[in-house]
Amino acid sequence: MKFRHFIGLSLQTIVAFTSLAGSAASLVWLERQNASIPVPSAPRWADEAPLVIVDAGHGGHDGGAVANDIIEKNLALDLARRVKRELLSAGLRVISTRDTDVFLPLEDRAAFAARHQAAAFVSVHLNTDGSGSDAEGIETYFADDRPLSSRQWTSASGAKRGDSADFAAAVQRMVCKTTNACDRGTKARSYAVVAQASCPAVLVECGFITSTNESARIKSESYRDQVASGIARGVALFLQAQPGRAPLIATAVK
Ligand SMILES: [Zn+2]
Repeated sequence: MKFRHFIGLSLQTIVAFTSLAGSAASLVWLERQNASIPVPSAPRWADEAPLVIVDAGHGGHDGGAVANDIIEKNLALDLARRVKRELLSAGLRVISTRDTDVFLPLEDRAAFAARHQAAAFVSVHLNTDGSGSDAEGIETYFADDRPLSSRQWTSASGAKRGDSADFAAAVQRMVCKTTNACDRGTKARSYAVVAQASCPAVLVECGFITSTNESARIKSESYRDQVASGIARGVALFLQAQPGRAPLIATAVK
C-alpha cells in the first residue's frame, strides 16, 4: 500500500480502521481514502477503554542528557504531552507520571501501572551517542526478564509478560513510519522503569540529541507531533490486538 496515504490519516482513522478486522478489503479501502475524507469522531472501545501510563523521562534535578541546546527532561515532557493528546484522541484513557518539571524515582514511575491497573506503559526519552559517530535514529526497549512475581502482574489488558516484545515492535514500527527516522530496532534491556511495570511496557528513545541532524529535527514541533503520533498508533494497535479485547466500535467510518 502507499504509505504516504497511511501517514496522512489521523490516529482516529487508523484505530477505526483496525476495527475493520484488518482484512485485505480494508487495506484496499484505506488505500483509496485520502486526507480530505472527514475524520471520524473518536472511536469508542467496545468495553472500557484501556488505560495507558505515559512517562516523561527524567525531570527536576535529573535533567537527563544535554546536547545541542536540548535538555532531555524538557523535550521528553513535551513529547509525552503530545503522546497523551494522541492517545486521548484515540479514545484511550491516559495517566501521566509527571505533567511538570519534577523528579520521580524509577520505581515510583513503574508503580503507576499497578496502582491504576494499566494496560500499557510507555516511557519517553531522548538518546545520546558518546562515541562521536553521530549516530541517529529511534529505538524501543522492553524488559524480557521481569523481576515481578506473576501475582504482581496486573494483566489488565489480558496481555502476558512476553507481550512487551510485541508491544515494542508495534511502537517501533509505527514511530519509524510516521517519522521516516532511521530504524534502530527493538532491544531487550531491563531498565527499571519498564522491568518493574506490571503491564506490557516499553521505553522509546525518540532520537539522538547528540546528532546535528536529528537534534535539529527534534526541535521542530511538527516533527515531535509525528513522533507522538507514531508512538500512539503503536500503542493503539498493540492494545487492539490483545486477546480478549472485544472489537473496537468505529463511528462514522464511511
Ligand atoms: Zn533518558
